[in-house]
Order: sequence, then C-alpha cells, then structure tokens
Amino acid sequence: MKIALIGAGPRNLMALERLLAWYPRVQVSNLEIHLFDPFGIGGRVWQSDQPHELLMNSLAAKITLFTDHTIEMEGPVNPGPTLLEWAQRSGITFIQAGHYEKANYLVKEIGHLTSESYSSRALFGVYQDWFYQQLVQKAPEMVHIELHKTAVKTVKGLTHHAYELRFDDSAETFDGVSMALGEGMSEPSSTEKELTHFANEHHLIYLRTGYPSEQAYDSIPAQSSVLLRGLGLNFMDAMIMLTTHRGGKFHRQKDDTLVYEPSGKEPKIYAGSGRGFPYHARGFDQKAVGETRPLYFLSNQLVAHMIENQEQMSGQEFLNDIYSDAACTYYTKLVAQKYTGISAHEFEQAFQNDPLSKEVLDDYGIAEEDRLDWEALAHPDAFAKTYADFQKVLLQYLDHDITEAKWGNKTSPFASAMDTLRELRTNIRKVVTYKLISDEDYAKYILGGFNSFNSFLAVGPPILRLEQLLALIKAGVIEILGSQLQLETSGNEFVAYSKRYPEHKVAVKSVIEARLAPVDIRISRNELIQNLLETGMARPYELHFQNGSTKQLGAMDVTTETAEMIDSDGDPVPNVYIWGLSTEGRHWLTNGSPIPSVNDVRLRMADMIANQILTYTD
Ligand SMILES: Cc1cc2nc3c(=O)[nH]c(=O)nc-3n(C[C@H](O)[C@H](O)[C@H](O)COP(=O)(O)OP(=O)(O)OC[C@H]3O[C@@H](n4cnc5c(N)ncnc54)[C@H](O)[C@@H]3O)c2cc1C
Repeated sequence: MKIALIGAGPRNLMALERLLAWYPRVQVSNLEIHLFDPFGIGGRVWQSDQPHELLMNSLAAKITLFTDHTIEMEGPVNPGPTLLEWAQRSGITFIQAGHYEKANYLVKEIGHLTSESYSSRALFGVYQDWFYQQLVQKAPEMVHIELHKTAVKTVKGLTHHAYELRFDDSAETFDGVSMALGEGMSEPSSTEKELTHFANEHHLIYLRTGYPSEQAYDSIPAQSSVLLRGLGLNFMDAMIMLTTHRGGKFHRQKDDTLVYEPSGKEPKIYAGSGRGFPYHARGFDQKAVGETRPLYFLSNQLVAHMIENQEQMSGQEFLNDIYSDAACTYYTKLVAQKYTGISAHEFEQAFQNDPLSKEVLDDYGIAEEDRLDWEALAHPDAFAKTYADFQKVLLQYLDHDITEAKWGNKTSPFASAMDTLRELRTNIRKVVTYKLISDEDYAKYILGGFNSFNSFLAVGPPILRLEQLLALIKAGVIEILGSQLQLETSGNEFVAYSKRYPEHKVAVKSVIEARLAPVDIRISRNELIQNLLETGMARPYELHFQNGSTKQLGAMDVTTETAEMIDSDGDPVPNVYIWGLSTEGRHWLTNGSPIPSVNDVRLRMADMIANQILTYTD
C-alpha cells in the first residue's frame, strides 16, 4: 500500500506517527509512506534557519506532537515528550549531531528554556525534525518512509481509489492521500497590485502580506519611515525584525519595565489597524499541563447533547454562552480577590443562575468600574476624542494589559477570563463543525464579528512583546496612529492616518502589510489547490441560507466526521483527506499546533485519518 502525505508540517507529521501506530493492527504488509513538501520536514512556518527572534505564541511546555490518554481516539496511545521536555532532555545532543545553520542560537536558547518560555519557531522546527527521525528509525522493516522536497502539482483519480500525483517532471500512483497544506500565499488583491505599482513608480517600498520569516524587512532603510498595517502577531514579528534584529537592545529596569536602547539602524515605525490597539497579551500561565477550568454555559455536556440530538441554538445564544463562561471566570476571580466579604461559592451559584442580567452584580455590590464591559473592550478608544487623548489611552491600555497579564491566568480576573476564551475553543470548534447554529447566524455572528474580537482578546503574543512595544513607543521608535487606519497615496509618498483623527496624517516611504491574509482557496497561489478546484476533485464550501441564497467561503468542502475532500458533485473523494488551514471556515480556528493532555482536536483527527487511510474499503 502506498500513502502520500502532502505537506510535512505538524499535521502530517502527526498523521505519519499515527499510521505507524495503526500499522500493527491492520492487514497491510508492505507499506510505503511518502511525504511531500518543498520546505522539508516541519514545513514552511517552522524552518530551523529562520531569524531566531521569531517566537511561537504558545509555551514550549504546551506544544507536542504525541498522543496522550486524554485523546478520544481508537488508535494506541504512544506518549512522548513535549517540546520543552525534548529540548531539556536531548535537544542539545540532537542539535549538535545535526547540521543546523543556527546551532549556536538553538543551543543557547535551550540553556534558558523553562516552563514559562515561548520557544523560537526555529526550535519547534528542530523538534519536528527529531520527531520525524525517531519515527523513521523505529519504523518496522516492512514500512518504507521517504521525504520528497518537492511540491505536488496535481492529484488525479485513476480507478476508484488510486491516485496519480504529478510533480515537476514525474508522477507516481498512491492508494490514499492526506493533505495538510497550511496557510500558503494568495494572489495579490487589486489594492495590493495598485500599491505595488505605486511603490515601483515612485521608488518606494511596499511589502504585501506574507510569512514573517520570508519578508524583506532588510529592504527598509534605517532612519526612513515605514507603516505597519496590522497590530496582531505578524506586527509583533515585524516590530522585532526592525528593532532588536537590527541591533537595538531592551534593558529591564528596577521597576520591572523595559527601556529601549536604539542601534540607530531602526526606521521610524508607524502602525495602526481597524481596531487601533495591539492584541491583548497572553496571561502568565499558572496552569499545569492539562489543567483547565470547568465550562458552565457552552459546556462539554451541552455540546455533546446537541450533537447527539442534532439540535441547534441561535447565534445570539451561542455568543451569550461564550461570554457567560468568560464572565463567570472573571467575576469569580474578582470576588475572590477584591470582595472578600462575599462567599465566592455563593456568588458563583447566583451568577451561574443569571449570568446576563446586572441584578446579581448589583445585589452583590460589584462596583461599576469592576464590571466586565465587552463593548468597552471592543472599542478601547471610544472616549478618546483627540489624537493626544488616544495616545494617553493607548499607554494606559498597554500598562494595564501588561499588569493583568503578569498577574497570571489563574489570578488576574481579566487574564483568567481570556484564558477561558481559549479553553472554549474545543466547544466552539464543535459548534461550527457540527453546524449547531444556522448558516445565517454563523455568517452574521461568527464571521461577522466574533472571529476578529476573539483574535484581539485571546490570540495575542507573549507579555514580553507588549512590554517591548511599550518601550519602543516611549523611545519614539514606534507611533501608533489609531483605529480605522487609512492608507492613501499622494504625490511621491504613501500617507497614513486614523479615520478617527484625520488631522494627524503621516507620510511614509514604505508600507508593510503586517498580517497574514485570510486563507482563501479560490485565490490561493498553490497550484495543487487550483488544480483540485479546476478538475472538480474539490469544491469551495458554501453556506446555505433559508431564503435560498448561498455564500461561498474560501474553505475546502470536507465531510464533517471523516475529513474526506468533497468533489464538485458533492461526493466524498474516496480515501483523500484534507485538513487544517485549507478548511478554515468549514471548521473553526484551524491555525494551531497540538496542546498536550487536553484531548487535542488535531491529534484526534490525525488518528482518525490514519485509521481511515489504512483500512479504507469500497
Ligand atoms: C508566521 C506563523 C506563525 C505561527 N505561529 C504559531 C504558534 O506560535 N503556535 C501555533 O500553535 N501555531 C502557529 N501558527 C499556525 C500554524 O499554521 C500551525 O501551528 C501549524 O503549522 C499548522 O500545521 P499544518 O501541518 O496544518 O500546516 P503547515 O505547518 O503550514 O504546513 C503545511 C505545509 O504544506 C506544504 N505544502 C503546501 N502545498 C503543497 C504542495 N502542493 N505540495 C507539497 N507541499 C505543500 C507547505 O510547504 C507547508 O510546509 C503560525 C503560523 C504562521 C504562518
């Protein structure tokens, strides 16, 4: 039997491990597993030679590729070390025995790595290399594993489930295929084309959206002016690449704040976004591996019951449940900290009975200024009338956010509540995957607002990045322009300003789109994806509304339970699976790597896909 794994990032590496785990249980004698990826093992995001300053936004202690006993799966559990455990046990020996361009940085990083560290992306790449190598070493004799550093251009169905994969100058036939193709690049939008053209005409620089490790940050001249569009994770990468990567240094003061010492090679950085504020920092993680808080509203029981009974809830109820769970965490922590005269248990009971009204908060005397105000969180600049006001609010926002985050995700009411949002992800994913809300409500509430708000609140960078941003603002290296960022062209320059403060315009010589474009298979530059759509082997997923209209999303259509690709006739393609970012929209928040001991969805899917591929029958 021959299996193709297209893409050698974390997902298909997990699939490889699961294929080997299932192999002794199935009636397959000779097994060939071929991985395809022009970027090699670990794939495009996790290249081990990328700039070392580019960090993960997950703790090294909470990243794994191994299964554990919490995973609801049929295959055998093969436990193994997390990224942190591997690094501390055998990382240095492995790196020194290999040929890593940045071995010195990697070894030095491991020397400082603790359970509180965010690993570099490069180090996660090395962990994936090690993971792969130990699988190859331990594989039974009858299993052949081979990596091909090449892109797959087409997949063509031959007989019922035999597929021909074409590469640049050859082709091969396989019995089953798993595709995990990652973010990839899209065709430039019309705006991106216009801005590129303008930059070329006027000797300016315009860098469209892209992978941070591949962006030409070096092309931005020292002391020139640059606009970063976006204030999320990609912005933080650009910020670091234009400052410390150019020799600037941060010094920690006695009061625990950072001060920036410039190298003189930095440009002046302007930045802004739709919301105008950087993503909230991740709270200092006080939770042990596998530790979570119970969910009371969008609970595991509720979601399981709804799936079993094919029930739906309204989009508003769904959001209410999400916000009630986060608020329950918030107020429980708040009462325990600040309202010590109240019985925390009694308060929690009362709150859970009536999470949405103000009555409980009034009854227990929770002060107005202590209340969780989602509207204010969504628009932190609501009362900043002038540009000067906005700058003050921004500094307060950063100060406050850093303080709360440092306090920790079991102590700070705010950081704990945002952690609950993260812990709700499994159940939110199930609601989207199993369509527990109508397509109308999904489009209106989730695509139309919650996704962006959730990213702002709960997909943020490590605290250190916000501390660095604050120091860079104070050093005059970065200026944040505000919300509703506008970019225009005028004469020989780009001009940027916030629509809220149109009197404050800045002219810049360079613009960097500091964000990843949303995945949209319809405009993907991936030849394989285009081929699958053109030949009808795949189709974009559609929402169906009650008035008969439809809305196409940029996600591949796949079967709900089995991750099989769905063709243009609506039929599953036998033994061909596609998972991960190409399905974003059909599934929810597919852009992450596995977390140990929390019944991780990615590990569950890896097990299911491996089982299905090996045991497929007509
Ligand atoms: C800049 C950046 C930073 C991130 N940081 C984090 C983080 O800190 N923590 C976290 O959990 N997640 C992070 N992510 C999310 C990331 O997508 C996932 O963690 C994870 O890499 C997804 O795994 P995957 O295997 O599905 O896809 P990927 O890791 O993206 O791998 C997909 C691979 O498929 C290959 N491929 C595509 N088409 C073809 C083809 N036609 N033929 C052959 N190969 C092909 C690509 O080259 C690529 O290497 C980050 C993503 C990006 C882009």
